[in-house]
Amino acid sequence: MERETEPVESTQETQCCIVGAGPAGAVLGLLLARAGVPVILLESHPDFDRDFRGDTVHPSTLELLDQLGLASRLHQLPHGKVRTMHLRTGNRCVTLADLGRLKTPFPYVMTLPQSKLLELLASEAQRFANFKLLMRANVQRLVESEGRVHGVRYRDGDNRWHEVRAPLTIAADGRFSKLRHLAGIQSESTAPPMDVVWFRLPRKANDPGESAELYVGGGHFAVLLDRGEEWQIGYVILKGSFAALRGEGINALRSGLGDLVPWLADRVDRLQDWQQVAVLNVESSLVKCWHKPGLLLIGDAAHVMSPVGGVGINVAVQDAVEAANVLTEPLQRGAVTEADLARVQQKRMFAVKIVQRMQRFLQNRIASPGLTGTFKLPWWLRLVTSVPGLRNLPARLLAFGPRRVRLSEPAPAR
Ligand SMILES: Cc1cc2nc3c(=O)[nH]c(=O)nc-3n(C[C@H](O)[C@H](O)[C@H](O)COP(=O)(O)OP(=O)(O)OC[C@H]3O[C@@H](n4cnc5c(N)ncnc54)[C@H](O)[C@@H]3O)c2cc1C
Repeated sequence: MERETEPVESTQETQCCIVGAGPAGAVLGLLLARAGVPVILLESHPDFDRDFRGDTVHPSTLELLDQLGLASRLHQLPHGKVRTMHLRTGNRCVTLADLGRLKTPFPYVMTLPQSKLLELLASEAQRFANFKLLMRANVQRLVESEGRVHGVRYRDGDNRWHEVRAPLTIAADGRFSKLRHLAGIQSESTAPPMDVVWFRLPRKANDPGESAELYVGGGHFAVLLDRGEEWQIGYVILKGSFAALRGEGINALRSGLGDLVPWLADRVDRLQDWQQVAVLNVESSLVKCWHKPGLLLIGDAAHVMSPVGGVGINVAVQDAVEAANVLTEPLQRGAVTEADLARVQQKRMFAVKIVQRMQRFLQNRIASPGLTGTFKLPWWLRLVTSVPGLRNLPARLLAFGPRRVRLSEPAPAR
């Protein structure tokens, strides 16, 4: 048992305690709640507003939201759509992915602030009496005995300690997972050769529309995502070089971008200071074993994805769906075994590894040469994007990953 170092003000019991209300935790919380499983979801932040964290909702997640009856509500919120992805270098343009060819009611990546997606998921989950969301609940301890996790201890906004006891605890607490650390679970990291400086610039009526535009040239690499009124721009830099870029002043960023994407030159002066940018320290990592008795890691806590393809949210959501598919019935019976937890990992590991391998390949073949000024359009890219039998493959992988994950529907408990 955890040493009693602090007085605990309250203890609550539930079937499943989820730590972290990001995409993975919020989706799993909702799926379990609608199946009648008692759930407590703990989130350290006071709200869902956060610095830019990625705001792409891929067809796999849109299909899930549709199954849950939430897709039309999401579409009523202001959003952008990305239907195609182009790679532009010099005067050449290659269509990397055309989602319009896919058989899905949602042949596009939706772009909207992640907070809006999380608010929708949380408000839907809160319709169920067996679901409880606690904000400002900063989890600091695992409650353990004899090698088994029995719940967590958290500090509330007034620094008071509380305990949640549950037969199953889910660590959905993101890339710096406190629970992973407390459980002594290691993750193996690789440092891709780049970091990304994210910011937004206005979109104008005659700009390219409903697309993601990748520009490579002159030792620079940038990704532009249509976000409706704005472009979300990822300016890719060599790993660890942000301090040097910053030292050169904001003009260096403006002129690098203006040279690479000439039609943005008329608005780069909207970048006035470094407060407008968020720097993503690009990392890729994987935990070998996602579980121990009473504890399961999902989402970024189990694997941090590189930003290539912008798939982090959707991979996290797919983990949550697979966890719900496997664990709902054992949780309803109140008898989750470690074999059940291992089955969740087993169902997800292959897809996660394949995506990470593909990301590594693209980083090494496109991003690295792009940043060192040695990029040439590779033959295999021209092949994949022009041969009819292969042409849809990148779009399918982007939309659904290597394996389509669907929610197996138990009758919702209402
Ligand atoms: C700058 C940036 C840009 C990105 N761009 C994209 C993109 O365009 N598309 C994309 O798909 N992905 C993108 N990602 C990745 C994406 O945001 C993550 O892969 C995704 O959010 C992972 O979801 P998650 O639920 O596993 O973890 P998170 O979203 O990290 O959620 C974890 C939650 O746990 C909470 N938490 C952490 N510790 C505790 C604690 N001790 N107690 C209680 N709560 C805790 C956090 O506050 C957070 O709400 C980006 C990430 C970053 C940083």
